Amino acid sequence: MSTDPKIIIAVDGYSSCGKSTFAKAIAARLGYIFIDTGAMYRAVTLYALEHGAIRSGMIDEEAVCRLVDRIAITFRYNPERGASDIYVDGDLVEGRIRTLEVSNCVSGVSAIPAVRAKLVAMQQEMGRRRGVVMDGRDIGTAVFPDAELKLFMTADPAVRARRRYDELRAKGQEVSLDEIERNVVERDRADTSREVSPLRKADDAIVLDNSRMTVDEQMAWFLDLFDKVVRA
Ligand code: C5P
Repeated sequence: MSTDPKIIIAVDGYSSCGKSTFAKAIAARLGYIFIDTGAMYRAVTLYALEHGAIRSGMIDEEAVCRLVDRIAITFRYNPERGASDIYVDGDLVEGRIRTLEVSNCVSGVSAIPAVRAKLVAMQQEMGRRRGVVMDGRDIGTAVFPDAELKLFMTADPAVRARRRYDELRAKGQEVSLDEIERNVVERDRADTSREVSPLRKADDAIVLDNSRMTVDEQMAWFLDLFDKVVRA
Protein backbone atom coordinates (compact mmCIF):
# COMPACT_ATOMS: atom_id res chain seq x y z
CA MET A 1 0.00 0.00 0.00
CA SER A 2 1.33 3.45 -0.90
CA THR A 3 1.84 6.10 1.77
CA ASP A 4 2.13 8.94 -0.76
CA PRO A 5 -0.70 11.46 -1.12
CA LYS A 6 -3.57 9.78 -2.93
CA ILE A 7 -4.23 10.66 -6.52
CA ILE A 8 -6.87 9.96 -9.15
CA ILE A 9 -5.99 7.38 -11.78
CA ALA A 10 -8.17 7.52 -14.90
CA VAL A 11 -8.26 4.38 -17.03
CA ASP A 12 -10.04 4.96 -20.33
CA GLY A 13 -10.05 2.99 -23.54
CA TYR A 14 -11.84 0.75 -25.97
CA SER A 15 -14.37 -1.97 -25.13
CA SER A 16 -13.08 -5.25 -23.73
CA CYS A 17 -9.44 -4.23 -23.36
CA GLY A 18 -9.32 -5.62 -19.84
CA LYS A 19 -9.67 -2.13 -18.32
CA SER A 20 -11.64 -3.35 -15.32
CA THR A 21 -9.29 -6.27 -14.59
CA PHE A 22 -6.31 -3.94 -14.80
CA ALA A 23 -7.93 -1.09 -12.85
CA LYS A 24 -9.12 -3.46 -10.13
CA ALA A 25 -5.63 -4.98 -9.78
CA ILE A 26 -3.86 -1.64 -9.49
CA ALA A 27 -6.46 -0.34 -7.01
CA ALA A 28 -5.92 -3.42 -4.82
CA ARG A 29 -2.16 -2.98 -5.04
CA LEU A 30 -2.30 0.70 -4.04
CA GLY A 31 -5.11 0.42 -1.49
CA TYR A 32 -7.29 2.65 -3.66
CA ILE A 33 -11.01 2.39 -4.39
CA PHE A 34 -11.85 0.88 -7.78
CA ILE A 35 -14.85 2.33 -9.63
CA ASP A 36 -16.16 0.64 -12.78
CA THR A 37 -18.17 3.40 -14.48
CA GLY A 38 -19.18 1.08 -17.33
CA ALA A 39 -21.16 -0.89 -14.73
CA MET A 40 -23.18 2.27 -14.01
CA TYR A 41 -24.14 2.75 -17.68
CA ARG A 42 -24.91 -0.96 -17.90
CA ALA A 43 -27.10 -0.80 -14.78
CA VAL A 44 -29.16 2.06 -16.25
CA THR A 45 -29.48 0.08 -19.51
CA LEU A 46 -30.64 -3.06 -17.70
CA TYR A 47 -33.18 -1.02 -15.74
CA ALA A 48 -34.45 0.56 -18.98
CA LEU A 49 -34.78 -2.89 -20.57
CA GLU A 50 -36.64 -4.26 -17.57
CA HIS A 51 -38.99 -1.26 -17.41
CA GLY A 52 -40.01 -1.17 -21.07
CA ALA A 53 -37.95 1.89 -22.07
CA ILE A 54 -36.10 -0.25 -24.64
CA ARG A 55 -38.14 -2.53 -26.88
CA SER A 56 -36.69 -4.67 -29.67
CA GLY A 57 -33.47 -2.67 -29.41
CA MET A 58 -35.30 0.69 -29.85
CA ILE A 59 -34.47 3.14 -27.08
CA ASP A 60 -37.23 5.51 -25.94
CA GLU A 61 -34.96 8.38 -24.82
CA GLU A 62 -37.67 10.29 -22.95
CA ALA A 63 -38.64 7.18 -21.00
CA VAL A 64 -34.97 6.51 -20.15
CA CYS A 65 -34.60 10.12 -18.92
CA ARG A 66 -37.65 9.72 -16.67
CA LEU A 67 -36.26 6.46 -15.26
CA VAL A 68 -32.73 7.72 -14.70
CA ASP A 69 -34.09 10.70 -12.87
CA ARG A 70 -35.66 8.57 -10.18
CA ILE A 71 -33.36 5.56 -9.76
CA ALA A 72 -30.78 5.22 -7.02
CA ILE A 73 -27.48 3.58 -7.97
CA THR A 74 -25.32 2.39 -5.11
CA PHE A 75 -22.21 0.28 -4.62
CA ARG A 76 -21.44 -2.15 -1.81
CA TYR A 77 -18.04 -3.77 -1.34
CA ASN A 78 -18.01 -7.52 -1.95
CA PRO A 79 -14.90 -9.05 -0.34
CA GLU A 80 -15.25 -12.25 -2.42
CA ARG A 81 -14.80 -10.31 -5.66
CA GLY A 82 -12.44 -7.75 -4.18
CA ALA A 83 -14.63 -5.07 -5.80
CA SER A 84 -17.94 -3.35 -5.23
CA ASP A 85 -21.21 -4.81 -6.48
CA ILE A 86 -23.69 -2.46 -8.08
CA TYR A 87 -27.31 -2.06 -6.91
CA VAL A 88 -30.22 -0.25 -8.54
CA ASP A 89 -32.96 0.79 -6.12
CA GLY A 90 -31.48 -1.66 -3.62
CA ASP A 91 -31.61 -4.56 -6.11
CA LEU A 92 -28.29 -6.36 -6.74
CA VAL A 93 -27.81 -6.24 -10.54
CA GLU A 94 -24.10 -7.12 -10.80
CA GLY A 95 -24.81 -10.56 -12.29
CA ARG A 96 -27.28 -9.27 -14.92
CA ILE A 97 -25.47 -6.29 -16.46
CA ARG A 98 -22.89 -8.12 -18.57
CA THR A 99 -25.16 -9.96 -21.00
CA LEU A 100 -24.92 -9.40 -24.74
CA GLU A 101 -28.43 -7.85 -24.68
CA VAL A 102 -27.20 -5.11 -22.32
CA SER A 103 -23.95 -4.73 -24.29
CA ASN A 104 -25.91 -4.19 -27.49
CA CYS A 105 -28.00 -1.33 -26.02
CA VAL A 106 -25.56 0.35 -23.62
CA SER A 107 -23.82 2.66 -26.11
CA GLY A 108 -27.20 4.11 -27.15
CA VAL A 109 -28.20 4.70 -23.53
CA SER A 110 -24.82 6.19 -22.62
CA ALA A 111 -25.12 8.73 -25.45
CA ILE A 112 -28.19 10.35 -23.81
CA PRO A 113 -27.04 13.66 -22.23
CA ALA A 114 -29.28 13.36 -19.12
CA VAL A 115 -27.90 9.88 -18.39
CA ARG A 116 -24.33 11.15 -18.65
CA ALA A 117 -25.06 14.23 -16.52
CA LYS A 118 -26.41 12.12 -13.67
CA LEU A 119 -23.68 9.46 -13.76
CA VAL A 120 -20.79 11.91 -14.21
CA ALA A 121 -21.98 13.91 -11.16
CA MET A 122 -22.06 10.68 -9.12
CA GLN A 123 -18.58 9.70 -10.31
CA GLN A 124 -17.15 13.12 -9.42
CA GLU A 125 -18.63 12.81 -5.95
CA MET A 126 -17.14 9.31 -5.51
CA GLY A 127 -13.67 10.60 -6.42
CA ARG A 128 -13.85 13.78 -4.35
CA ARG A 129 -11.43 12.48 -1.72
CA ARG A 130 -9.09 11.03 -4.38
CA GLY A 131 -7.46 7.61 -3.91
CA VAL A 132 -9.57 6.10 -6.71
CA VAL A 133 -8.91 4.16 -9.88
CA MET A 134 -11.83 4.85 -12.19
CA ASP A 135 -12.27 3.03 -15.47
CA GLY A 136 -14.47 4.16 -18.34
CA ARG A 137 -14.46 6.14 -21.57
CA ASP A 138 -14.43 9.79 -20.51
CA ILE A 139 -12.72 9.79 -17.10
CA GLY A 140 -9.55 11.60 -18.20
CA THR A 141 -11.39 13.95 -20.57
CA ALA A 142 -14.67 14.84 -18.80
CA VAL A 143 -15.08 13.35 -15.31
CA PHE A 144 -11.61 14.14 -13.92
CA PRO A 145 -9.70 16.20 -16.49
CA ASP A 146 -7.34 17.06 -13.59
CA ALA A 147 -6.52 13.40 -12.79
CA GLU A 148 -2.84 13.09 -11.91
CA LEU A 149 -2.38 9.91 -13.95
CA LYS A 150 -4.31 9.09 -17.10
CA LEU A 151 -4.05 5.83 -18.99
CA PHE A 152 -5.60 4.99 -22.32
CA MET A 153 -5.94 1.28 -22.98
CA THR A 154 -6.17 -0.35 -26.33
CA ALA A 155 -5.70 -3.81 -27.84
CA ASP A 156 -6.20 -5.60 -31.11
CA PRO A 157 -10.00 -5.99 -31.77
CA ALA A 158 -9.63 -9.73 -32.42
CA VAL A 159 -7.80 -10.19 -29.11
CA ARG A 160 -10.47 -8.16 -27.32
CA ALA A 161 -13.35 -10.15 -28.82
CA ARG A 162 -11.65 -13.41 -27.85
CA ARG A 163 -11.19 -12.25 -24.26
CA ARG A 164 -14.83 -11.14 -23.94
CA TYR A 165 -15.98 -14.40 -25.57
CA ASP A 166 -13.96 -16.52 -23.11
CA GLU A 167 -15.30 -14.47 -20.19
CA LEU A 168 -18.97 -14.88 -21.22
CA ARG A 169 -18.59 -18.59 -22.04
CA ALA A 170 -16.95 -19.13 -18.65
CA LYS A 171 -20.12 -17.64 -17.13
CA GLY A 172 -22.20 -20.12 -19.12
CA GLN A 173 -23.61 -17.62 -21.66
CA GLU A 174 -24.36 -19.02 -25.14
CA VAL A 175 -22.66 -16.55 -27.47
CA SER A 176 -20.69 -16.79 -30.70
CA LEU A 177 -17.29 -15.22 -31.31
CA ASP A 178 -18.77 -13.51 -34.37
CA GLU A 179 -21.51 -11.65 -32.51
CA ILE A 180 -19.07 -10.62 -29.78
CA GLU A 181 -16.68 -9.22 -32.38
CA ARG A 182 -19.53 -7.28 -34.02
CA ASN A 183 -20.56 -5.86 -30.64
CA VAL A 184 -17.02 -4.80 -29.72
CA VAL A 185 -16.48 -3.03 -33.07
CA GLU A 186 -19.92 -1.40 -33.02
CA ARG A 187 -19.52 -0.13 -29.45
CA ASP A 188 -16.15 1.41 -30.32
CA ARG A 189 -17.76 3.13 -33.31
CA ALA A 190 -20.71 4.44 -31.24
CA ASP A 191 -18.55 5.46 -28.26
CA THR A 192 -16.03 7.39 -30.36
CA SER A 193 -18.61 9.15 -32.51
CA ARG A 194 -21.27 10.23 -29.98
CA GLU A 195 -21.79 13.94 -29.41
CA VAL A 196 -21.43 14.14 -25.64
CA SER A 197 -18.00 13.19 -24.24
CA PRO A 198 -16.97 10.80 -27.01
CA LEU A 199 -14.28 8.26 -26.24
CA ARG A 200 -10.94 9.82 -27.07
CA LYS A 201 -7.48 9.78 -25.60
CA ALA A 202 -6.82 12.81 -23.37
CA ASP A 203 -3.79 14.74 -24.64
CA ASP A 204 -1.88 13.90 -21.47
CA ALA A 205 -2.91 10.22 -21.28
CA ILE A 206 -0.35 7.44 -21.62
CA VAL A 207 -1.24 4.62 -24.02
CA LEU A 208 -1.14 1.02 -22.87
CA ASP A 209 -1.57 -1.51 -25.69
CA ASN A 210 -1.94 -4.82 -23.89
CA SER A 211 -2.58 -7.06 -26.93
CA ARG A 212 0.48 -9.10 -26.13
CA MET A 213 0.95 -8.41 -22.41
CA THR A 214 0.08 -10.61 -19.46
CA VAL A 215 -1.62 -9.16 -16.39
CA ASP A 216 1.71 -9.39 -14.51
CA GLU A 217 3.53 -7.50 -17.24
CA GLN A 218 0.90 -4.77 -17.19
CA MET A 219 1.26 -4.47 -13.43
CA ALA A 220 5.06 -4.16 -13.63
CA TRP A 221 4.71 -1.51 -16.36
CA PHE A 222 2.18 0.40 -14.25
CA LEU A 223 4.14 0.32 -10.98
CA ASP A 224 7.16 1.75 -12.72
CA LEU A 225 5.04 4.56 -14.17
CA PHE A 226 3.20 5.21 -10.89
CA ASP A 227 6.49 5.56 -9.07
CA LYS A 228 7.66 8.18 -11.55
CA VAL A 229 4.39 10.12 -11.32
CA VAL A 230 4.05 10.25 -7.54
CA ARG A 231 7.71 11.03 -6.99
CA ALA A 232 7.91 13.65 -9.74
O1 C5P B 1 -16.69 -0.56 -19.70
P1 C5P B 1 -17.88 -1.27 -20.30
O2 C5P B 1 -17.57 -1.95 -21.59
O3 C5P B 1 -18.60 -2.13 -19.34
O4 C5P B 1 -18.86 -0.05 -20.66
C1 C5P B 1 -20.11 -0.27 -21.27
C2 C5P B 1 -20.51 0.94 -22.09
O5 C5P B 1 -20.81 2.03 -21.21
C3 C5P B 1 -19.51 1.49 -23.08
O6 C5P B 1 -19.55 0.81 -24.33
C4 C5P B 1 -19.94 2.94 -23.21
O7 C5P B 1 -21.01 3.07 -24.14
C5 C5P B 1 -20.49 3.27 -21.83
N1 C5P B 1 -19.56 4.00 -20.99
C6 C5P B 1 -19.46 5.38 -21.18
N2 C5P B 1 -18.70 6.12 -20.35
C7 C5P B 1 -18.01 5.54 -19.36
C8 C5P B 1 -18.05 4.14 -19.17
C9 C5P B 1 -18.83 3.39 -20.02
O8 C5P B 1 -20.10 5.91 -22.08
N3 C5P B 1 -17.28 6.31 -18.53
